[in-house]
Amino acid sequence: MSLRTKFMLALLLTGLAAVAMVGSLAYVGMTKKVDVIRRQSAADHFYDGMSAYLQKYGSWQAAIAVESFDDFMHSSRGRPPPPPEQDGGDDRPPPPPDDEPQRAGEGPPRQGDRPPPRRGGEPPYHFIVADQDFRVLMGGGAYRHGEVLPASARKDARAVKVGERVEAYISPEGVFTPSKQEQQYIDAMREALVAGVTGAAALALVLGVLLSRGLSRKLSHLTGAVRAMHGGSLLQRVPVEGKDEVAALASAFNDMSEQLARSHEELKESHQTILAQAEQMRELSVRDALTRLHNRRHFDEQATTLFSHAVRHKRPLSVVIGDIDFFKRINDQFSHATGDAVLRQVGEILRSHMRLSDLVARYGGEEFVIAFPETELPQAAALCDKLRNMIEGFPWHEVHPDLKVTMSMGVYADLAAGTAEAMLQKADELLYRAKQTGRNRVCFA
Ligand code: GH3
Ligand code: MG
Ligand code: MG
Repeated sequence: MSLRTKFMLALLLTGLAAVAMVGSLAYVGMTKKVDVIRRQSAADHFYDGMSAYLQKYGSWQAAIAVESFDDFMHSSRGRPPPPPEQDGGDDRPPPPPDDEPQRAGEGPPRQGDRPPPRRGGEPPYHFIVADQDFRVLMGGGAYRHGEVLPASARKDARAVKVGERVEAYISPEGVFTPSKQEQQYIDAMREALVAGVTGAAALALVLGVLLSRGLSRKLSHLTGAVRAMHGGSLLQRVPVEGKDEVAALASAFNDMSEQLARSHEELKESHQTILAQAEQMRELSVRDALTRLHNRRHFDEQATTLFSHAVRHKRPLSVVIGDIDFFKRINDQFSHATGDAVLRQVGEILRSHMRLSDLVARYGGEEFVIAFPETELPQAAALCDKLRNMIEGFPWHEVHPDLKVTMSMGVYADLAAGTAEAMLQKADELLYRAKQTGRNRVCFA
């Protein structure tokens, strides 16, 4: 069940329960109150009439011999006797005039036998008149004429005195049966109660729809924003309307989203920095600090890969090792700094004449290594001789007037050596030969 339906149901039930409870209490309370007033009013009216009747004639026997109590009451009001009963049970006189609705409407019951039952089978409300010994004189109800009233019926009996003498007792009997007018009041009240319940239900439904629509609209903003966050866009803003709990939730959500997005940005930035630093570290780890060429470790790794590729695809590969001639002497004669400058410049000459696919590295000290993929021995030897020539022809005198630099090189291109390392070993042997045969030369095989 959706939150909206639950909310509407809660409102509906609450509204109905409240109206039903208040309405029922009012209905029962009013019915009871009318009963009490009516009972009291009828009792007073009957008592007054009976007092006057007995006062007039002195005793019941004297009075009844002259005129009935009903006739006395009607004549004392100056009205004709009531018409015979037509509704089969209402023993009250016709509706009273508007100026005395309560008293006049409560005409005393007529003398005689028990009237027929009223609506719902209830006996009518009337009075029993008994003599000084509680023998029934009139309005017997549950008791026969002349029967002695039991103690329970005497309890509420009211004495009617003539002078100081008790001439009769009046005891109420039966239950309240509302008059037509009262019944109309009560019916109107019941109708008002039903209308109230219906109105409350309609109001609860309308309110439920309006409030739940507002609530679900606010919540749907939040749901949409959470989904969007789940989809990756962390910076979300939902409208903050009013000052209720949902508004507080929306405001807290906005703060959280902003904070989350900011943290995520910071995290992304620091991640980028870490990646850049890692790349820098990796680059540093494969580079030689002095010449910025790759270092021996990187060369060994890459040469192995190039060798495997060449073997697999039966492609040529040449490896070269070059060594600066009498470098110790350069250091000694000119300075270590000049030696460093020579190393940097030789490195630059080698780097600037390589293809992208070639691999060049400072192997250690004043030794450099090169791998030429897709290059046969003659081309590699020629290229090395060109490099050797360029190194020799570089204007070293600009560094120092007496400075001369040359390089000896060994070139090997036979994959049959078995490994890149073995090929380099062979190239080193050829370099040794170059050194032995006068330096500043390229030996190859
Ligand atoms: P050869 O012609 O037989 O190769 O003689 P050489 O003097 O070049 O060879 P040797 O191996 O005797 O000397 C190499 C020198 O290189 C020794 C060392 O001090 C120097 N050296 C090694 N690394 C560096 C460096 O990074 N900077 C400088 N300035 N000198 C270096
Ligand atoms: Mg050396
Ligand atoms: Mg050397």
